[in-house]
Amino acid sequence: MATFLFDDIIFGPVQSRRLGSSLGINLLPTTSKFCNYNCIYCECGWTRKDMKTKIQLVDRETVIRELEKKLIRLKSADKSPDNITFAGNGEPTIHPAFAWIIDQTLSLRDKYAPDSQVSVLSNATMLHKEAVFEALQKVDNNVLKLDSAVQSTYEIINQSLGKHQIRDIITNIKRFDGQQIIQTMILRGEYQGHVIDNTLPGELKALRDAYLEIQAKKILLYSIDRDTPATGLTKVSREELQGIASFMNQQNLHAEVY
Ligand code: SF4
Repeated sequence: MATFLFDDIIFGPVQSRRLGSSLGINLLPTTSKFCNYNCIYCECGWTRKDMKTKIQLVDRETVIRELEKKLIRLKSADKSPDNITFAGNGEPTIHPAFAWIIDQTLSLRDKYAPDSQVSVLSNATMLHKEAVFEALQKVDNNVLKLDSAVQSTYEIINQSLGKHQIRDIITNIKRFDGQQIIQTMILRGEYQGHVIDNTLPGELKALRDAYLEIQAKKILLYSIDRDTPATGLTKVSREELQGIASFMNQQNLHAEVY
């Protein structure tokens, strides 16, 4: 199915349901996706298997130069964004200069757009790197992916290219002490003979236990919105997502649907 890539390092601002007007920063290539996951629902399509050897990442100075130019233009047009958001064609924390880029971005934000927030959407696999962990502690919205707390389901949905254990990822997510936001994709379907349904009671209970352990400031529940690389996936309705949020909020977990 058709998926899409961001074709620039700095893109937008675009209007986002979660983030208002959002100026995007793509630290990944503009011509292909670069991620250590291969989520079956990824809007950017499938991850290339040769990504470690063939892809050159944008240099850090170029990112900051382009961001500064854009923030100056937006400020002079009185259109500073609600959010400056690290997202794009893959996992931003993979970039080797991620921590430096966050520091520079926060300085530019303070200088040109002091009312804007800095947000990072991450799959939480690089939190064992202290520089990444410390950088994410500095941003306004540290949004971390947790789609399933059941190892076998996690493996099918997120298709990690490494040997990640969801237990270790949950342990690392916990370290933010209530300053993190969790983002969970709720979906159903079938992929390569495996039935996927993280709305089943056992899945929801495992997620709830993980959320209780993490105590995030917010949990964002969502479902498929655009084309997915895997066929056979089904969007979960907003009403059902609201029901799941209510189930979580019986335990005061600050879950919302977006
Ligand atoms: S972590 Fe994000 S970018 Fe990477 S495969 Fe999953 S959805 Fe796509």
